[in-house]
Amino acid sequence: MKVLVTGGAGFIGGVTGRALQAAGHEIAVFDDFSTGHDWACQGMRVYRGDIRDRSALDKAFGEFLPDAAMHFAAKAVVPESVSNPGLYYDVNVVGSLRLLEAMRVAGCRKIVFSSSAAVYGTPAITPIDEESRQHPINPYGRTKKQFEEALEDARPADGLSYACLRYFNACGAAPEWGLGEVREHETHLVPLVIRAAATGKPFTIWGTDYETRDGTCVRDYVDVRDLADAHVLALERLRPGEGGAYNLGSGQGTTVREVVSSVGRVMGKKVPFVDGPRRAGDPASLVASCSKARRYLGWTPGRSLDDSIRAVAEFLRSRGG
Ligand code: UDP
Repeated sequence: MKVLVTGGAGFIGGVTGRALQAAGHEIAVFDDFSTGHDWACQGMRVYRGDIRDRSALDKAFGEFLPDAAMHFAAKAVVPESVSNPGLYYDVNVVGSLRLLEAMRVAGCRKIVFSSSAAVYGTPAITPIDEESRQHPINPYGRTKKQFEEALEDARPADGLSYACLRYFNACGAAPEWGLGEVREHETHLVPLVIRAAATGKPFTIWGTDYETRDGTCVRDYVDVRDLADAHVLALERLRPGEGGAYNLGSGQGTTVREVVSSVGRVMGKKVPFVDGPRRAGDPASLVASCSKARRYLGWTPGRSLDDSIRAVAEFLRSRGG
């Protein structure tokens, strides 16, 4: 298939672009490079543009004539969505609606959308399945939920088929493709712990008094290459007029302290840290039930957290970090 990958210069979009190519699909990247990187899509056909810009979208659809879109382009920093919600609604909702409109006009009827576990908010029960109550607790999660709803409305009206993939905590890297997470202001746990191990500079554990097995938050860390595999499967299994949402996690809960010991063990280094207060808005535990993705997509997340840590360490070494 010909696939237009919005946000294909970013972390998950970049790895998925390579995985699509490896599976025999032809891709073009559409990205504004606000947080993406040129090196992430070297050798690929690239359209430089903002998803809010209909004429840029029309040009890409008109020239490349994709059969499907994979939509990663988004603003994705939760605290920023709280301080600047207008930007999040503009890019994640308005921009995504422009993409949908450009698809409709171009006759492109398939989309795989990067959604998030943030659509659930603070769950009453874990593991979380796709039928769990959706009550996002921040603007970021609300924007993802709103576009999921727009897709479901467009499905019968436009004959659209879609898959919304709700990621839990993405981590890891694809050093074999020279790809990994590089952000100006890193806030995610796994890269921060690896950096602390590499530099000897401590990171802060946000909250040690949660009702969990060691007092720190439990999250479900899923490897980016497993996520990429799920995107390829979701695309290949889209049926005309059908839509669905799938949780993508490992199904395993890991505490912050357990991440610290895994990084220490895998890297053979002591990880310096300090215990800090809770971070606003952090639920104690978020773990996915992935049985729907296993059943319907035939997806098996096979990489462990140790595999992800090894991949990040290798990626950072290859960049001289
Ligand atoms: N965390 C931490 N120190 C940090 C960054 C994150 O203790 O410097 C914790 C955070 O409180 C959460 C978990 O690590 O419980 C995962 O946070 P991250 O920001 O990576 O992802 P989130 O679950 O918020 O999407």
